[in-house]
Amino acid sequence: MKLLNCLPLALLLAAPLAALAQGHAHVHGLAKLDIAIEAKKITVSFETPLDNLVGFERAPRTDSERKRADEAVARLRDGDAMFRFDPAAGCKLARVELTSAALKLGQADATPQVGHAELEGEWEFDCADATRAAHVEVGLFAFNQLKRVQVQLALPKAQLKRELKRPHTRIVLGP
Ligand SMILES: [Zn+2]
Repeated sequence: MKLLNCLPLALLLAAPLAALAQGHAHVHGLAKLDIAIEAKKITVSFETPLDNLVGFERAPRTDSERKRADEAVARLRDGDAMFRFDPAAGCKLARVELTSAALKLGQADATPQVGHAELEGEWEFDCADATRAAHVEVGLFAFNQLKRVQVQLALPKAQLKRELKRPHTRIVLGP
């Protein structure tokens, strides 16, 4: 998964600035979700414009913005509510990692992006048998600005693409 993620970044870095501005995949209303299923582990990676979560894309400036940011972070940290896997797989949330320079999450010394800040999340679930997860209910549409999620599934024997559109919340984890 890491290698796949590095490729577009390498292309972006090589591209001239003008092309970079036009070609950036940051689209408001849209987010990306990768779900990797291994024998006893499911890893969910999420990448979204900050606007989808809090309605602004920089460090919070007012008390109400700080409150909105805190609420969004608390909601994302509640991984069991964000991603409810098929009980047949017996999954338990093991780890959550949120990264956003604008919200001072994760790599604290990273330079905040100028405009169009983003947030990345990673949730790891330990499962009795992850391959028995036939579906997952996604709670991300609790964020009203989020309209559409592009999903990549990495199953033990297949890679699949899905798209989840509000008001749907269920992703089928199989062919
Ligand atoms: Zn933006």
